[in-house]
Amino acid sequence: MLRHHPFLVELLTLVGLVLAPFVLGWIGASPDTVNRVLVWGLFGIGFDILFGFTGLLSFGQSAFFGTGGFFAAYILTRLGFPSVVLALVLGMVVAAVVGYLIGLIALRRTGIYFAMITVAIAEVFYFVEFNPLAEWTGGENGLPGVPTPHFHLGSLDLDFSTGWSLYQFFAVCYFIGIVVALRIVRSPVGAIFRAIRENPLRASAVGHNIHGYKLTAFVVAAAYAGFAGGMLGVLQAFMPPDAFTFGTSGQLVMQAAIGGTGTLFGPLLGAAVWLFLQDFLQSSTGLGAAWKLVLGIIFVVLVCGLRRGLIGGLDDLWGLLTGCKAKRAAAAAQAAAAPPAAAVPVATTPAAVAATPRAPAPQEPAGIILEASGLSKRYGGIVANSDIDFSVRQGELRGIIGPNGAGKSTFFKMLTCEVKPSSGKIVFDGRDITGMAVADVCQLGLTKSYQINQLFNRLTVRENLTIAALAALRGRFRLDLFRSLKRIPGLTEQVDHTLELVNLTQRPDTPVAELAYGEKRRLEVGLALATRPSLLLLDEPLAGMSPTERAETVQLLKSIGQGRTLVVIDHDMDSLFELAGQVTVLQEGKVLVEGTPEQIKSNTLVQDAYLGGVHGTLAHA
Ligand code: ATP
Repeated sequence: MLRHHPFLVELLTLVGLVLAPFVLGWIGASPDTVNRVLVWGLFGIGFDILFGFTGLLSFGQSAFFGTGGFFAAYILTRLGFPSVVLALVLGMVVAAVVGYLIGLIALRRTGIYFAMITVAIAEVFYFVEFNPLAEWTGGENGLPGVPTPHFHLGSLDLDFSTGWSLYQFFAVCYFIGIVVALRIVRSPVGAIFRAIRENPLRASAVGHNIHGYKLTAFVVAAAYAGFAGGMLGVLQAFMPPDAFTFGTSGQLVMQAAIGGTGTLFGPLLGAAVWLFLQDFLQSSTGLGAAWKLVLGIIFVVLVCGLRRGLIGGLDDLWGLLTGCKAKRAAAAAQAAAAPPAAAVPVATTPAAVAATPRAPAPQEPAGIILEASGLSKRYGGIVANSDIDFSVRQGELRGIIGPNGAGKSTFFKMLTCEVKPSSGKIVFDGRDITGMAVADVCQLGLTKSYQINQLFNRLTVRENLTIAALAALRGRFRLDLFRSLKRIPGLTEQVDHTLELVNLTQRPDTPVAELAYGEKRRLEVGLALATRPSLLLLDEPLAGMSPTERAETVQLLKSIGQGRTLVVIDHDMDSLFELAGQVTVLQEGKVLVEGTPEQIKSNTLVQDAYLGGVHGTLAHA
């Protein structure tokens, strides 16, 4: 339904914000609490973009909440700045700049180390606010006297001083905040945020500068925090020093967990539950200080019971009531039951032909596209690859075989620059790419599909391919935060072409987690293909497949190989000999021999390597 009404969410939010004072006022809710919910809800939008969409858990958002809040409060109370709205915007800008500088440091690490750095940074800010900057921030007294917004529009005098009148101002701020956030998460940048959350390694491997995008999410979150901090000062007519405390960051994380992350509205809902419960427990139950204990228990119960938060729970309930999930499962079963071989395209369809690589390869082998010389990789005492000389011509379909542990995957990792060679040189398309970043190499047109699937699991097939296609169409990094995905020229066509190439046209809207194994393997190849590589490396594309799936995938690879340069590693020699024009055999990290499939089959060195000298058997493979 949302797809047919693109602004439905915005419209419903607007209606909700307009009706809230009537409904909540009628049930006796205090406007102060409702306003507080909006402040935390806006604060949480930024946090959700950072954590829920990009997967970066920060415990340091109080640093930006306090920075924006104190900056706005300072210029309003001490410098007599005339405009509250402009002061809030300036506070937001200062918080964003600080966020940029902190992000440069914190994002050097990932996972728990990133989270711990944010905790430490928030503590540093708290200390600085209380000590060296106490003269400006008021130290433990905070900054009193923060004014409320007041507008003179000709003869019209608009005053948003307290209660429900201040709600109107906050509701407008929240509405603008959610509209902007919805634009961001629907933009190409938003799609890449989700890809980073799901699989940063693959997001980088398909050609995105993930550090740049993570920094963007961090700055956006800091900006939201800064604006919300300013709103807190306005709400309380006082900027409290505890805005900077770790408790503020912790409360934000807990509210987002209660409401549900990756939804933008989860933190608002979580804040409503948290703050109304807090009010209720403090004022109506006579629990005294024990309200925190009860609230803590309620938090644990909610988070354990609803893993995806309240919004996730509501979504599950909706799915049950409408039978959406059952319908999807039935569709999946139907698609899996359909005979896929009939649909395997041979690249003669217009779509398949249109999905050409960035530098189209000629049909006949031509110049050398990749040349590795003296390539070695040592892991301590283990020599994975030793002094490999290897070259591939444009348009070639090369096979690589070798026993387990021969160094095939390590060789591929060096070619795509995932792993730095201990020595040697790699030249791709005339450029020395040794030691380059993976994303840069992919942007040049060299990428690979992985031996173990590296997909974006919570995204659909179409969304997966979109992530890869965006790298080819937009380059490594672009800040088109407010551009709709639909407005990227050629994106839909490229994704459709790739769907057709890997025979997934029946499954575009299926989440990856619901795909059959063979379909996942094809999508794995599709992700690499959607980047429009001029040289594609396929690491064991047939691994784990049934004989039928293998036969289908061999046909698929044949069609993909038309007009492309491919290097394929596989243990299935029958299939590989059927596919490849030339085969390279690796053994103990070195090139043992190279030749046509016929030459390799009858080579005694190869038979020794595989069969310990039982000659003749490979010839029948
Ligand atoms: P398979 O066919 O089983 O996938 P392979 O031919 O791809 O094997 P590699 O995975 O490249 O072989 O491994 C070659 C050698 O390097 C093995 O001895 C392996 O244990 C070692 N090796 C690979 N990666 C590492 C690493 N990160 N650290 C230490 N040793 C490694």
